[in-house]
Amino acid sequence: MNPNVVSEEYLNLQKSIINKQEELREYFGGKMKLAITKDEFDFDFPILPQMKTSPVPGELYRESIEEIANVISPFQPGLKEELSKITTNLTEEDTMKWIKESITFNTVYFQTYSQKNELSEWLPHFLAEQALRPFMQLLAKESQSFIDEFEVMGTCPCCGEPHRLAKIDGKGQKYLYCPRCETQWKQKRLACVHCGDDRQEHLFYINIKEDDVAKIEVCETCSNYLKIVEAEKILEKKSAALLDLETIHFDFVAQEEGYGDEPSE
Ligand SMILES: [Zn+2]
Ligand SMILES: [Zn+2]
Repeated sequence: MNPNVVSEEYLNLQKSIINKQEELREYFGGKMKLAITKDEFDFDFPILPQMKTSPVPGELYRESIEEIANVISPFQPGLKEELSKITTNLTEEDTMKWIKESITFNTVYFQTYSQKNELSEWLPHFLAEQALRPFMQLLAKESQSFIDEFEVMGTCPCCGEPHRLAKIDGKGQKYLYCPRCETQWKQKRLACVHCGDDRQEHLFYINIKEDDVAKIEVCETCSNYLKIVEAEKILEKKSAALLDLETIHFDFVAQEEGYGDEPSE
């Protein structure tokens, strides 16, 4: 197993995007107010699809798209032209549509958009999703005080992303940690986070030699997996997005073994 299957350049681009998203989160946080209270929500479902008003203002989202495109350009000079074509031609109507369809992770919409506008098939969705994340993170911040009361099966209780990362703190407490919105959600019982099977003999673990920072938890029942990071072994506090990126070789191992969801695309 070669842990460097992902190029250094790809990792650097992703890290730059993560840094930009953190910066944008602070900036947008100062410009908008998300007033949410826990009484508005049904605790069995994620917060995002239950929002009555969009947590993403169109004007700021557009700014986010432009900022993320500016991060990608120097890393991928071949995309420069396409990126500027996207940002120049994006109408107000498109922007609102991008918000809606990126929230629901509508790959079909973005594929059609790419074909219609003669763009690389993956690029619009990638850009739309990355531009959305600062807003997801603001929503997560706003709901952190009551998120542990949620009982959502299989996905992040804030943004609805399927679980793929958890961390264990110094006291042995396990938190699901969402790389899309940075929600930390306390796991209450030992069970598969995907299907809920709590027969412990159905969960097993895969370790990677010479890398004891994380391990892979696999469920025999649903064949899905979760990466578990031991936070104590990492000296600095890292975002979920960064931990997810730094443990990407664990995903390759799990997927090589045939675990995980079939990609929906
Ligand atoms: Zn999330
Ligand atoms: Zn399972």
